[in-house]
Amino acid sequence: MEFTFLAEQFSAIYHTAAEGVASAPGRVNLIGEHTDYNDGFVLPCTLNFRTKVLFKARADNVIKVHSLNYPGESDCFSVAEPIKAGPSQWGNYVRAVAFVLQRAGHKLCGADLLIESDVPQGAGLSSSAALEVAIGGMFNSVAQLKLTPTQLALFGQQAENDFMDCQCGIMDQLVSANGQSHHALLIDCQDLSTQLVAMPTNLVVVIINSNYPRKLVDSEYNQRRLACEAAAKKLGVSSLRQTTLDAVEHNTLLSDVERKRARHVVSENLRVIDAVQALQTGDLAKLRTLMAQSHQSLHGDYEVTVAATDGLVKLSQQALGENGAARMTGGGFGGAIVCLCLPESVATLKDSVIPQYQQQFGLAADLYVCTAGQGLVVQYF
Ligand code: ADP
Ligand code: MG
Repeated sequence: MEFTFLAEQFSAIYHTAAEGVASAPGRVNLIGEHTDYNDGFVLPCTLNFRTKVLFKARADNVIKVHSLNYPGESDCFSVAEPIKAGPSQWGNYVRAVAFVLQRAGHKLCGADLLIESDVPQGAGLSSSAALEVAIGGMFNSVAQLKLTPTQLALFGQQAENDFMDCQCGIMDQLVSANGQSHHALLIDCQDLSTQLVAMPTNLVVVIINSNYPRKLVDSEYNQRRLACEAAAKKLGVSSLRQTTLDAVEHNTLLSDVERKRARHVVSENLRVIDAVQALQTGDLAKLRTLMAQSHQSLHGDYEVTVAATDGLVKLSQQALGENGAARMTGGGFGGAIVCLCLPESVATLKDSVIPQYQQQFGLAADLYVCTAGQGLVVQYF
C-alpha cells in the first residue's frame, strides 16, 4: 500500500500527521527445521511482505492503535500503569511488546499508531513476529531506548512467550529484525550469532500454503522436544548439537523413536551448513538434493509431515524438475512448503501444481512469490 495513502489514513484517524514509520518483514525458513530448540542451525530469509507501523509520539502516556487490517477495531492503553491484556486480540500484540519492555525497566512514552501489513496472517509467514519487531522498533525510536535489533528480537520473543502464551523460538523475530534485502540469515541457535548469506540473484522464493487444517500441533511439538531431550541425555550431551550421526547410530540406549528424532536433528544441521555453501555458489542442483533430503527426513525420521504437504512437495518437485527445489517449511502437521526456483518456473507451479493439488486433496492452496526483503527499518518523514 502507498505511503501517501497510509499517511492520509493516519491523519484522518488522529487529526495530526504521522512523524515516522517502523516496518519489519515476515519470513520463511529455507532449511533447518526443528533444529532451533536443539541449539542447532536455521536458515530463514525475510520476505518482501512487510508490517508497517506509522507513529507519532504523544505528550502523555497513552498508546492508541488502529490497524487497517482490522477496520473498525482499535485499542488504547496507558504505559504509566501495569499493562494487562485487553479486549482486542491483535491489540494484545502491541500491549505484549510494551509489557516486556516495561518489565525490563525501560521507560516508555505515549504514541498514536496505525498498522498496515501485506504479510498474510496465520499462514506460517510470521505476521506476529513482523508486528512485534515493528512495534519494538517504534518504541525504540519514540522512547529512545537505544536497543539493538537483536535485543528488540528477544523482546518480541518474550512478548509472544510471556504475554501471548505462545512458546515460539527466536528465529522469526531475529530474522525479521536483522535480515537484509536479497539475503538469507544463518542463525546459530546455540549463541544467536548470525551470518548473512546472499541469495542467488537468479532464484525466487515461492511459498505454497497447503491450507490443510492443522491439528494436534502443540502436543506433537512437545513430544518431539521431549524425545530430543531424552536422546541428548542418553547420548551424554547437553543438546543434540553436541553429538554426531555416528554416535546416534551406535548408541544402544536410544529407543527406535529417539534414534529417528535425533538422526533428523543431527543430519538437518549438516544440511543447513551445506545449504549455505550451495546458496553462496548458486548451486541449484545441490539445493535440490538438500531440500529433498530435509523433507524426507521430516517425513520419515521426524514424522511431522502430512499427506497434503508430502503431496504438495512431490507435485512441486516434479513440476520444477532441475529448475527448482522444494520442501515443507515450518513446524509441520500442515502449513506451507517452500520452493527455490527460476522465475520462469513460477507459472508451472501456478498452472499445474495448484490444480493437481486441489484435485488430489480437495484443498485450494495459496501461492506467494517472494524475494528477501530488508529487516527492521525505522524512518522519519
Ligand atoms: P502467523 O505469525 O503465522 O502469521 P500468528 O497466529 O502467530 O500467525 O499471528 C497472527 C496474529 O498476529 C493475528 O491474529 C493478529 O492478532 C496479529 N497481527 C498480524 N498482523 C497484524 C496486522 N497487520 N494488524 C493487526 N494485527 C496483526
Ligand atoms: Mg506467529
